[in-house]
Amino acid sequence: MDRVFLDHNATTPLAPQVWQAMGEVAADPLNASSVHGFGRQAHSIVEGARREVAALVNGKNKRVVFTSCGTEANNLALGGLGEGVTKLVSAAEHASVLKTRDVQLIPVDADGVVDLVALERMLANIQGKVLVSVMLANNETGVIQPVADVARIAHQYGALMHTDAVQAVGKIEVDIEQLGVDMMTLSAHKINGPQGAAALIVNKSLQLVPLLNGGSQEQGFRAGTQNVAAIQGFGVAAKLAAQRLKTAHDIATLRDKLESNIKVHAPQAVIFGSNVPRLGNTSYVSMPGVDAQMQLIHFDLLGIAVSSGAACSSGKVETSHVLQAMGVEKNIAQTALRISLGSETTIEEVDYFLKGWTQLYDRSHDKHNQEKAA
Ligand code: PLP
Repeated sequence: MDRVFLDHNATTPLAPQVWQAMGEVAADPLNASSVHGFGRQAHSIVEGARREVAALVNGKNKRVVFTSCGTEANNLALGGLGEGVTKLVSAAEHASVLKTRDVQLIPVDADGVVDLVALERMLANIQGKVLVSVMLANNETGVIQPVADVARIAHQYGALMHTDAVQAVGKIEVDIEQLGVDMMTLSAHKINGPQGAAALIVNKSLQLVPLLNGGSQEQGFRAGTQNVAAIQGFGVAAKLAAQRLKTAHDIATLRDKLESNIKVHAPQAVIFGSNVPRLGNTSYVSMPGVDAQMQLIHFDLLGIAVSSGAACSSGKVETSHVLQAMGVEKNIAQTALRISLGSETTIEEVDYFLKGWTQLYDRSHDKHNQEKAA
């Protein structure tokens, strides 16, 4: 097999419809703030996409603020309420939430689910303005958090609530009204849209201090000329994502096959988060005794793209902070590999991956047994 992409939680291939829609406008001089015909065309593209993105999460009564990436949207959500706000965030959040100012960590349990009792205790002990931020689905384990419950508790204590739904949209139904959150982050490149477009969806009653200052684009929430082609692509991707939800079951069936084969071959393999609801496309699994770095190299040589959930931007493999927060022992966490499927993943690709997995497992265990016998 040529190249197999099983790293959809990192990014996704551009859908052909998205590519086409972007291509139709990419070469035009489109500035959505200009008053002439080109400007009006740009404005109409941006506003059309805004409606599609809002519709994807039932957010037609909310404000959609386009940003350049999910990281920026998370930074705006966490930083936009101004100084002196305490942020309670789950210990399993993405780095773009964890690495913001004045953050206190809400613990997660052994399955990676946020501890609601601890959250209440923390809320009861904090004076002043509080923002709670808990992601809807984890990028490493796929574990789905009880965000509606978190939002209810946060509101009982007068706190505001943000959820990072970057990994959840397009994989599970996401309804901002039902979740009851005040802000939500989305990112186009996780739903077969382009890199360069994302959104923070905000309650209309909330005012945020922009991260970027200058013009009054994005209703004053983000200065800077909009990336019209990418936003156009985001709108199309949002529409497709709503339709593609129907394939979630088929993807989960493939993922389950992958996991059950691994468990039959290596019963000691740990599948993280498998006791609780999680995304159907994600598998975070340990290969007993084999370092994640070694696995990554092996799969790369086979042309298979997978990830150690915690690969950071430098390409180095670090011990996952998510597994650490779940209390997983370091030597097991270091053998964890994330496999994330997409709507175009085939059964042949899963079989090819499984062949590679068992090959490496058998090879390292034969070697281990020979060493023990010697
Ligand atoms: N939040 C989560 C849960 C993610 O998985 C990611 C990306 O991996 C981000 C935020 C950041 O999104 P972006 O890559 O668009 O900056």
